[in-house]
Amino acid sequence: MSEREQVPMDVVFVGAGPANLAAALHLKAEIKRHDELVEKGFKQSREIGDIEIAIVEKGSFVGAHILSGAVMDPKAIRELMPDFIAEGCPVDSVVTEDAFWYLTEKGGINAPIVPPPLKNKGKYIVSLSRICEWLGEKCEAEGINIFPEFPAAELLFDENNAVVGVRTGDKGIDKEGHKKPNYEPGVDLLAKVTVLGEGSRGSLAKQLISRLGLMDGKEPQVFSLGVKELWEVPEGNFAEGKVVHTLGFPSDTRTYGGGWIYGMKNNVVSIGYVTGLDYEDPMIDPHAEFQKFKTNPKVAAVLAGGKMIKYGAKTINAGGYWTMPKLYADGVLLVGDSASMLNGQRIKGIHTAMKSGMLAAETIVGAFEHEDFSEKTLRHYEEKVNLSWIYDELHPVRNFHGAFQKGRWSALINTGLQFLTRGLAWGFMPKEHHVAGHERMLKLTDIGKIKTENGDRYAGVPFDKELTFDKVTDVFYGAVAHDEDQPCHLHVLDTEICATRCVEEYGNPCQRFCPAAVYEMEEREGRKELKVNFSNCVHCKTCDIADPYQIINWVTPEGGGGPNYKGM
Ligand code: SF4
Repeated sequence: MSEREQVPMDVVFVGAGPANLAAALHLKAEIKRHDELVEKGFKQSREIGDIEIAIVEKGSFVGAHILSGAVMDPKAIRELMPDFIAEGCPVDSVVTEDAFWYLTEKGGINAPIVPPPLKNKGKYIVSLSRICEWLGEKCEAEGINIFPEFPAAELLFDENNAVVGVRTGDKGIDKEGHKKPNYEPGVDLLAKVTVLGEGSRGSLAKQLISRLGLMDGKEPQVFSLGVKELWEVPEGNFAEGKVVHTLGFPSDTRTYGGGWIYGMKNNVVSIGYVTGLDYEDPMIDPHAEFQKFKTNPKVAAVLAGGKMIKYGAKTINAGGYWTMPKLYADGVLLVGDSASMLNGQRIKGIHTAMKSGMLAAETIVGAFEHEDFSEKTLRHYEEKVNLSWIYDELHPVRNFHGAFQKGRWSALINTGLQFLTRGLAWGFMPKEHHVAGHERMLKLTDIGKIKTENGDRYAGVPFDKELTFDKVTDVFYGAVAHDEDQPCHLHVLDTEICATRCVEEYGNPCQRFCPAAVYEMEEREGRKELKVNFSNCVHCKTCDIADPYQIINWVTPEGGGGPNYKGM
């Protein structure tokens, strides 16, 4: 342990996303319920009483770094708060119409039948950022401590490898690593249980999984990158409550990809495109795929005469059930996207994230009841997940994403069979069908056929700043800000590889897979050198995931920096 200030807490939640906010609220309610039952003699146990709960969040406010499509299945929030609408939950619109478009370069068709997993009538179109802001207010009203601008930079372990809390990042360090006048050391928040709900590719979850081998015996996680804009469009272009999902253009048949268009209040449209980060062609650029998607005439017609008002990008865990890490260890639990709770087939994870948080909360109540915070008690969380509707939902679609690694057509056949067999379809194949995305990227020398087919993929995209935008312009609309005088939070472990092997082998794909123009190869003294414009970073984690050499390590920057997704 260090000389830093130590702040004792009981439970520390890392990340103010839907999983942890639901968990913290549910924990408060469940302790109250437990204590009442004990007091009235209905339960033979001990009272737990008031416990100190903290949520640390790297964004400048709760919701600042939260980005999703999003259509929310209200199943979990209804369990958390049955009267959530009356309680003021800021849902945007109710889904009134579903459509599924198969797109080609010049047009597309409305599928006569919307695939059942993509039927959303009656569910809610939301800004997840706004929902989290509201849940944060509910938490504060219950006496839960929320610390925005406090990134959890490290996990704290005791001598037996049990997690005993987190260390928050230092503030006021200059880019050379020296202390500035406003220097403030991070603090050690000590906790009996630490809950990691950092979202996709959380930096502490990554440390924990690697240190304790929580992915041993599991399939490697696969990720996708969602790139999104909000547009204001003329009245009549797209109805409020309408939800469109698309397949086809611009993805090639080897690459997982699909788009969405959701009609929100006041003629605002949420539009975005998801690209699987297990693509083979190193020339793919997920941001440019999205821009190209908007050039399809059916899509462009929705946006005609409108203007883009916000931008964001974020990865999601796409592997589902097979790629769930072990969800517990001594003193720690994993929830939400950090625990691979997303249903890839429905492209939905808010409800499963919230439910996982609630099950974590119920497990924590048991841990306090028995005063045992070791994995002997915390393992019940994984059991609860497997006995809940999370399992019922994720297990039947466990082979969904893996099938896409064999190409779009086999995936669609598999999806149909899977629907009929509750997921068994791919079960006849070897189980190990999720391959880590970075291992699937082909070298330039090996992409012959793909190169011929794909040509210059983005040649027809105008980047005209009307319909299609370059990355730097989009980043401006993400309201991204970092203090430039701080150490770079993107640790490239061997820049020599970038300047030599990667130029030849993959053509420096970081310039393409990053949706925020952070990575640039500059000509310096006759060779290419990497330049990292870290202040553009939207914290999507793509580089940490997709780099074929796995030499990029994303660590938390100074608290408060990053995008501002308010209302996204
Ligand atoms: Fe995303 Fe990495 Fe680019 Fe930041 S630097 S925006 S985390 S890809």
